[in-house]
Parts: sequence; C-alpha cells; structure tokens
Amino acid sequence: MTTAHAPVVSIRERYRDAVSDRWPVTVMPQPDELLSSWLHRLAYANGVAPRAFARVLGVNSGMWSAALDLRLPSDVATLLRAHTGIPSDQLSAMTLSSALPKQLLLPLRNSGRRDGSTWLQFCCRCLADDAQPYFRRRWRLASRVSCTKHGCRLRDRCPSCRGHIAVFDQAQLVPQHYCVPCGYDLRRAPIPYLSPATRTLDRCIDNICSLEAIAHSPSGPVLIRRLLRMPSASGYYSTRLLTSLSTAARTHCAERLNLPSEWPVDGAEDGAEDDDEERKARRLLRLIPPPSDRHAWIELLANALGRRRGRPGASEGNEPAIKLPDLLGAYASMSPRPGRRLAQELLGR
Ligand SMILES: [Zn+2]
Ligand SMILES: [Zn+2]
Repeated sequence: MTTAHAPVVSIRERYRDAVSDRWPVTVMPQPDELLSSWLHRLAYANGVAPRAFARVLGVNSGMWSAALDLRLPSDVATLLRAHTGIPSDQLSAMTLSSALPKQLLLPLRNSGRRDGSTWLQFCCRCLADDAQPYFRRRWRLASRVSCTKHGCRLRDRCPSCRGHIAVFDQAQLVPQHYCVPCGYDLRRAPIPYLSPATRTLDRCIDNICSLEAIAHSPSGPVLIRRLLRMPSASGYYSTRLLTSLSTAARTHCAERLNLPSEWPVDGAEDGAEDDDEERKARRLLRLIPPPSDRHAWIELLANALGRRRGRPGASEGNEPAIKLPDLLGAYASMSPRPGRRLAQELLGR
C-alpha cells in the first residue's frame, strides 16, 4: 500500500492572523440613516440580536442604540471603525449631534399615554420600498408628521399592538421592520390620512426652514418656540409641548392651525368683506419674499404660528401678520406641482 496519494497537511498561519479585525459582513449606511438603524442592521447581518449587540459594543442595555444616536462615545466609534471600515465622519453623520435643533427632537422617555410621543416615527411605504428597511434621521423630529418622499403621514406606533419602536430590545434574530413585542411587519401598516394643507406645512418647515437655516437665522429661536407651542396655539392642548405628543395628536394640531375658518378676521380685513381674490393675491405678492430668502420665511412662519385662535394677528414687528393658510398657499404656489393645485385652492378661498 502506498502513501503517495495521502493528503498533505501543513500548518497554516492562525485564522486570526489570516483575517482582519473586520466583522464578517459590512453594512453600508443608507441616505439619511439613523445610527441606531445602521447598528441594528449591522448586528442582524452578522448574526447577533440587537440586545446582545449592546454587550459587543460595551454599552449599557435599555435604549442603548437610541442613546448612541444622541452621543457616540469615541471608544465605541473607534471599535465600530475598526470592525466595519466605515470612516469616523460617516459614523458621526448618522448621529443627531450636528446641525439639528435639539429642542425639536422627540424625547427618549415614554409617558405611556395613548396621545404621548414615542422616540421614533416611520413611513411604512419607505420601509416597504427599501431593499433593507431602515429608519431615517428626520423621523426623530417632532416637527415632522409626513414623509418627504411619499407625502403620507408618518406612524409612531405598531398598528397591531400599539407598541413603539423598540428594536434595541430585540432578543431574536429578526430584521428591524418587525415589531418587537408582536412581530407585526411594519411595512404592511395601513397609511393614515393627511390633508394636503398639513402636508404643505410639513414640507414648508422642512424645505424653506431647513434645520441648518433655523440654526443660523435671527428668528430661528422664535420659530422653534412657536413650533413647540403649536399644541396650545391650535387650542387643543393648552399646556403640552409639541415634542410630548404622538404623531396623530401633532397632526391634529397642524390640521386645526391650517383651517381658515379657525382664524379670526383681523383689523386689516374688517372692512374687506368684498375683497376680491385679485386684491388678496396682490397683497400677498407684496408681502411674500422669494423662496431663497430663508431668513424672511422663517420670520413669517414664526409670526403666522404665533397667531392664536380667537385673537387678532400677533406680528412682532410693524409688518401685518400673514395667516398661516395664506402663507402656505403662497409657498405651495412657488413649489413644483402638485403644490400649485393646493395653492390655487387656498388662495381661492
Ligand atoms: Zn415614505
Ligand atoms: Zn406590535
């Protein structure tokens, strides 16, 4: 018997030396992805449930990933960079630390109230469109109630069990678009109704008053205060801030602010019952700045939001206040369709 065909066994370098420190699967961040969302996808792709992944990163349990969105410690950033190859600037771009007004972020605490805020919202159509469903940074803002891409209203609870998004607590190896307590596929959630006027208000705040613009505008702090007080301005919740309310309750406040019939006729229009549409449009044309003048738009929007139900206009300067529906109508008329149709509706009232 010969040994000529016996397999040759040789000692290779140790496995650990042959491979890099990288985890087996690298997950690329998606546009506007929230750090916690990327971390949950990274954990799942590498076969670790999110709750156990907190231990891998050496952070406390609980809402560990949501806390990292707010502040990414340097040792965790270093570990992530070493194991994934994602550079530091890309990691920090996924956090909420830069150029966002912190006052408008939804709080991490959960009041347990049915109309109370949760820490994160989602668009079921976005999740359904995604190859790997992920959560966006802008869904953390209380000033947002609609999806930029689909125009539909956001949700902040599972429609099946009413639970909030709790992927950080997921102990099973399940993708993050399944509700943690009940397993409901959030991509299948029904789409809630949103009026065109409220969608326009949402887009106006998001586009004209970009968050960076708010941070740099003299009227930015006033606008943030007025946004936070929208619940009382709408006459619906007298003592609660925008950030304490559910997406449905915030939408309800915006709907009430947008109803022209909710507004008193101010002094400038007392004798103007026979005002024709042309005169109204001319007045608006005089008062409305071009969309590029963001500081002026922020001031106008802050003033419009400062008008309370049952009171005359509360403009802080000498300029007459513009009612919110008129302002939004003018904004929509400057926007590409389908906003133009809405503008005609609003200005035609
Ligand atoms: Zn969407
Ligand atoms: Zn559920």
